[in-house]
Amino acid sequence: MNAATSTNSAPAERARIGGWQPFSACDWPGRLAAVVFLAGCPWRCGYCHNPGLLQRRHGQTSWPQLREQLQRRRGLLDGVVFSGGEPLTEPALPALLAEVRAMGFATGLHSGGSHPERLQRVLPLLDWVGLDIKTLPVQYPAITAVAGSGERAETSLALLQASGVDYECRSTLHPTLHDEHTLTQLAAWLAQRGVRRYAWQLLRPGPQLPQAFAPIAAGWPAPALQATVARHFAHFELRTG
Ligand code: SF4
Repeated sequence: MNAATSTNSAPAERARIGGWQPFSACDWPGRLAAVVFLAGCPWRCGYCHNPGLLQRRHGQTSWPQLREQLQRRRGLLDGVVFSGGEPLTEPALPALLAEVRAMGFATGLHSGGSHPERLQRVLPLLDWVGLDIKTLPVQYPAITAVAGSGERAETSLALLQASGVDYECRSTLHPTLHDEHTLTQLAAWLAQRGVRRYAWQLLRPGPQLPQAFAPIAAGWPAPALQATVARHFAHFELRTG
């Protein structure tokens, strides 16, 4: 057993798996991956696309069932990404990552960085992280409804960068939450911290969204702003889908 799984980590069989996607070409840039959605999140973003994953409860798939499915896909997938919810809330995450690596898959994580200490513990088991940066740290509670969440995300970013694990930062945007000044400041803040790969993801319309999150008009964010932000990074991408 890997040292990172030997202490304070629940057995993989106890993981609360909300669902999974067998093949995805867009959840880990440049890799074909399965995506496993772990249930539970301590934050309450008004625009959450997976409200059914906020509570830590079991979905229809257990880890033994999913393990069997993944074993059949050896050689067909590059890796497995753990997403959520917030996968760091799952005590069995270290055991899951260790098992997935032992099967020969690369390991990825989608996280908002809500638990820096847990992130630090699983970093040795990760090949890539997509870190969600919601806004400037001081503005986080307006999105997550949780005091101190911005500081947690900031600490997680620092730990991730110190680890040497490959990563990207991404921000989910909506005009209600992000004006031009905020977006400019956020890009500069990330660039100052040495982030080289950054993506904007436009909030997708959905029936679960409150009315405040109206569909985003074409042409937002302005092309000139996109160009300004892109200059800060080695790789910058706008994802609209
Ligand atoms: S951090 Fe992610 S999963 Fe948690 S409430 Fe916000 S959008 Fe939803």
